[in-house]
Amino acid sequence: MATTTHRIHNFSAGPAVLPVPVLEEAQRNLVALPGVGMSVLEISHRSKTFEDILAKTEADLRALGKVPSNYKVLFLQGGASLQFSMVPLNLLAAGATADYLVTGGWAQKAVKEAQRVGTVNIAASTESENFTRIPRQDELKLTANAAYVHITTNNTLFGTEWPSEPKVGEAPLVADTSSDMFSRPIDVSKYGLIYAGAQKNLGPSGVTLVIIREDLLARSSKSLHTMLSYAVHAENGSMYNTPPCFGIYLMGLVMKWGLAEGGLDAIGKHNERKAAKVYAEIDRSGFYRGTADKASRSRMNITFRLPSEELEKTFVKESTAAGLDGLKGHRSVGGMRASIYNAFPDEGIDALVSFMQEFEKKNG
Ligand SMILES: *Cc1c(COP(=O)(O)O)cnc(C)c1O
Repeated sequence: MATTTHRIHNFSAGPAVLPVPVLEEAQRNLVALPGVGMSVLEISHRSKTFEDILAKTEADLRALGKVPSNYKVLFLQGGASLQFSMVPLNLLAAGATADYLVTGGWAQKAVKEAQRVGTVNIAASTESENFTRIPRQDELKLTANAAYVHITTNNTLFGTEWPSEPKVGEAPLVADTSSDMFSRPIDVSKYGLIYAGAQKNLGPSGVTLVIIREDLLARSSKSLHTMLSYAVHAENGSMYNTPPCFGIYLMGLVMKWGLAEGGLDAIGKHNERKAAKVYAEIDRSGFYRGTADKASRSRMNITFRLPSEELEKTFVKESTAAGLDGLKGHRSVGGMRASIYNAFPDEGIDALVSFMQEFEKKNG
C-alpha cells in the first residue's frame, strides 16, 4: 500500500497536489463509508447519505469562504471551460455589453465564448507584453452599464495574479478563480459570480464550483437549455441531474481540511511564506529570472527562466530525476513553472530551493 513516504514533490499546474489527510480519509472510507456499508462511489445521489455529504460540503465551504447568505453555491460539471459559455449565456442579454479584462490564455478563451453570445468589450489587455503583468486600475476602459466585468484572478500559465479586485463600479464582477480559489481570504460580496474548476485548489477534476449572487439568477432566460441555466441548478440544489458525487465528497474533505488549517487567513499567510521563499531564490543572484512583473506575481504559479534553453532542458531533466515533478513551464512562457497550491507542503518548497541552489552552483 502506498504511504506518504512514497510521495514525490508534485508541482503540477492541475490536477494538482491534494492534502494528504484528505487522500488518507478518502482511502480509508473508499470501500465502505462508516455506518453505510457502501462506497461513496456506489450510493444514490438521492440517498440521505449523499444529501448529508452535499449539505456538509456546502456548509464547510460557506464557513471557509465566509460566503454571504444571499449567494447560492452550485456544484456543476464541465470545468471552468463550460463557465466560459454559461456566464455569457446566463448573464449577457441581447443588446448589452460585457467587459473582459484579458490577462492570459484562459481569459482569451473566456472572451472567445462570450463573443459567440453577445457584445464583448476588451476593457484591458496585457497581451502586447506577453501577459507579464496585471493591468493598472487607470488602464481599464470599462463600459457604462456593462452586463458584468470578467476577470481571471490568477493566470495559471503566466504566473500573474490580481493583487486585489479592480474597481468596476456597479457592474457585477465575475471571476474565474480556478487557480487561486481559497488560497487567501476572499470577500465574496465584491463579486456577482465566482467560478472555479476544482482541480487546482479545491478537489479533484470533474466538479466545478459556482458561487452566484441570488439576484443574478433572474437573468437566466427561460429559453436557455436546462443544463446551462444557473437558475435551474440553483432551484434544484445542484441536483437537477446526477451531480459529481465523488468530487463533491472530496471537495468536502478539502473544505474540512482548510478549516482545520485555521481558515483562509492562515492559509493565505502560509501561501505568502511559501511563495516568498521561491521568489527570494529567483531574485537572489540573477541566474534565474522571474517572468512576471514583481507587482503582479502569483503566489500559486511561479514562472521563471534560466540563462539558456539548453540549461532549462537540463533543469527539467535533473529536477524530475530528483523527485521534483512537473516543473516544465507552459509553452506560452517557456522555462519553468512551480505550481504551489494550498496543499503543496513546505518540504517541497525547501527541496526546490535547495535544488535551484545546487543547480546554479554546477551550471552558473
Ligand atoms: C485550469 C484553468 C481553467 C480550465 O479549467 P477546466 O476545469 O479544465 O475547464 C480555466 N481557468 C483557469 C484560470 C485555469 O487555471
